[in-house]
Amino acid sequence: MEEMNELFYRDSYCREFTAEVKECFPYKNAYAVVLEDTAFYPEGGGQPGDRGTLNGIEVSDTIKKDGKILHLCAAAIEPGTQAEGKLDWKYRFNNMQSHTGEHVYSGLVHRRFGYENVGFHMGREMITLDFDGPFSYEEALELEREANERIWRDLPVLISFPSEEELQAIPYRSKKELSGKVRIVTIPESDICACCGTHVTDLGQIGIIKVLSCAPHKGGTRVDILAGERAYEYLFDVWSNNREVSRLLRCKESETGNETQRVLNESLQKDIRRSKLMKEYVSFIVEDLPVKNVHILYEEEKSVNELRLLGNKVLDEKKGDSCALFSEGNEGYNYLILSNVTDLRPLCKQLNQRLSGRGGGSKEMVSGFFKAERSEIEAVLSEVLNAAE
Ligand SMILES: [Zn+2]
Repeated sequence: MEEMNELFYRDSYCREFTAEVKECFPYKNAYAVVLEDTAFYPEGGGQPGDRGTLNGIEVSDTIKKDGKILHLCAAAIEPGTQAEGKLDWKYRFNNMQSHTGEHVYSGLVHRRFGYENVGFHMGREMITLDFDGPFSYEEALELEREANERIWRDLPVLISFPSEEELQAIPYRSKKELSGKVRIVTIPESDICACCGTHVTDLGQIGIIKVLSCAPHKGGTRVDILAGERAYEYLFDVWSNNREVSRLLRCKESETGNETQRVLNESLQKDIRRSKLMKEYVSFIVEDLPVKNVHILYEEEKSVNELRLLGNKVLDEKKGDSCALFSEGNEGYNYLILSNVTDLRPLCKQLNQRLSGRGGGSKEMVSGFFKAERSEIEAVLSEVLNAAE
């Protein structure tokens, strides 16, 4: 690791500062500004680069390139002048909460299973962690509880730069072989890790950690977690949504799962009953129909599946060639046409054109929507289908 003496290392809580502009040059679609010293953390170690402003000019990202920290600015700033830097503190602090939360969680996985964190991505919302061994969702949740218990105990986050001899005696986690000055982050009873990110000083500032998912991934395990304010925002959204569900179902917030299951079962029973009645209704309707080549039927309040059931029965029992059915839909009529003899696709195009419709299908069956009057639909269907005979 190189020298680690920038302002964000000396004080990860610094959110405003002044520093001299050393360099400024065009970089991609922005200007890269290099400062003598900075509190802007450059993207690295899985932690995103900082955002904020320099002299009121937007800094959209901070990156490290060829040993220099580049502040990507919307406009140029004259070298030699002083720049006033302001961090987007909410964003940075959320990243510190997430990043430190990741230490606690990965540290606990390591202590329990000995697995390494082999992939770490901190997105705008979620933190994705890849471990090199298997564990279950239940175990992931047990670790979530352990991590939160450590947060509530407000354990400190300690930074140290041990000598090479001292380092050899420390069982720290690291993603790569390190030499020279190594920055060790220690959280008692939780984690020892070589890291150059920014952290909160005490775990209590994380507030909460929540595991969102845990699944096998490339022979190991992928876990998505949230920490800090982002975890709170997520839980708030889920709570609000559950509250709305409880209002709609008129049940307690703690009973929405059972109540939803009950409503779904009830709805399934209704569907079974309706389907049985529909079969009886179809037999009854078909019995009274005359024997014809082309049948055109209007049906009240039927789904496409029900129209299909009726249509197939008509063709089977009346030995017809084609059967067209339609039923009211939103602002028009849903239709379904079946044929044993005619290719329906060109007919469907023609019908859609004349009846302001849309839809399509196969040679034997087409379905869609007509935006026209009922009498007009009947007349046009009859004309087009009979002409195709
Ligand atoms: Zn770290």
